[in-house]
Amino acid sequence: MKTIVAKFGGTSLADGTHFKKVKEIIDADPGRRIIVASAPGKRFPDDVKVTDMLIGCYEKARAGEDFDKELKDIKSRFRDIIIELNIDFPLSQEFDILREKIISNPNRDYIASRGEYFNSRILAEYLGFTFVDPEWCVCFDENGVSDDAMTKRAMRAALRPLKNAVIAGFYGADGSGRIHTLPRGGSDVTGSLAACAVNADLYENWTDVSGLLAADPRIVENPRSVEYLSFRELRTLSYMGASVLHTDSVLPAAESGISINIRNTNHPEDKGTVIVKDLPEGEDEYPIIGVAGKKGMSVLQVEKVMVSDGFGFSAHIQDILANRKLPFEQCLTGIDVVTLVIQTELLSPCREELIQEIQESLNPDAIVLTDNLSMIAVVGERITASFDANVKVLKALSENGIEISTINQGAGRLSLLIGVPEEKYEQAVRVIYEVMENCK
Ligand code: ASP
Repeated sequence: MKTIVAKFGGTSLADGTHFKKVKEIIDADPGRRIIVASAPGKRFPDDVKVTDMLIGCYEKARAGEDFDKELKDIKSRFRDIIIELNIDFPLSQEFDILREKIISNPNRDYIASRGEYFNSRILAEYLGFTFVDPEWCVCFDENGVSDDAMTKRAMRAALRPLKNAVIAGFYGADGSGRIHTLPRGGSDVTGSLAACAVNADLYENWTDVSGLLAADPRIVENPRSVEYLSFRELRTLSYMGASVLHTDSVLPAAESGISINIRNTNHPEDKGTVIVKDLPEGEDEYPIIGVAGKKGMSVLQVEKVMVSDGFGFSAHIQDILANRKLPFEQCLTGIDVVTLVIQTELLSPCREELIQEIQESLNPDAIVLTDNLSMIAVVGERITASFDANVKVLKALSENGIEISTINQGAGRLSLLIGVPEEKYEQAVRVIYEVMENCK
């Protein structure tokens, strides 16, 4: 039988009604044997995630303030779920233990992790699956740094003998049993590691959207969702701001060649997006998979005549940035000119000193710094193979009066990065989306 690791996010487990939908999904495929659960998320737009409620409780306790009201509100979120599901769960006992721990030894990560702990225990009870506490098998060192290799081994030992299991997402423990959490949204990572540990056939990530959208829906009206995309494409789109999956979660699955299917708990009939190592043959309807971008960029241009005839000019500039721990997004080298794209926010505190240092150490002919730029990634592994997709994008931008400040496309056949003025960002994304749709 195939093994599917299915991770359900906070909105998918926000209340009893959603638990019932989750059970239907799990029952529909016996391959869904290993379930990873988040804490209850938002039930409506202004709602508060249980993880945030727990962190709020910890903050109060740390400040020496009374936190009983906060704890009561959290308890009632779980009580509502238990009542709706009509299951036995020692809620009062568990919350007495938690209250005691908050008073005696307030460890932020421990408190923040309890949303996943309770939710997973409740889900395991409801499904009749074994509960697996990641405290036993998601490994951290004493500094709170997660150890993926050790985790995979420990998870394999914990999960393989089980017919089916629910494991809590988002946390683990170090050798002394101290609880540590992964970054926010980290249940995605737990799911990915679990998929590797059991060598799953598929990692399903159930959320509240039907996969990755080809463009930001706040900019493009009703964009289509992407059916297939490669790990590399996803990484580029996520880096450039498209959010659906925790980026760290992609890597373990990608390394093991396990596909990830993003699905919608509220619309299980939708196929969602499948993230694969290699795009399937014939799935080349759209050479451009998606478009994403971000504002707030600056461009640093350093010019020196005849510099291309020598060595190390751009390396020297990069060293100056590295010594200042100032990352850059892109580095483009032309004849006698080096162009760096840097986040304005990171550049601002040191811009004058940086210019001075470059001036003194490299004696360039000109240094030009331009702000208010946005970077757009037009992504698709097939983009360069499609002959004219890039040309169409650039032509459409210029026809719409959108000035192009930088163009970057490596030989990696993955994306075309375009710099446009910030005020034209939204228009540019819409123009590119239009081209994408006509580029089949
Ligand atoms: N509950 C945690 C959060 O809100 C982790 C997760 O949902 O993956 O970030």
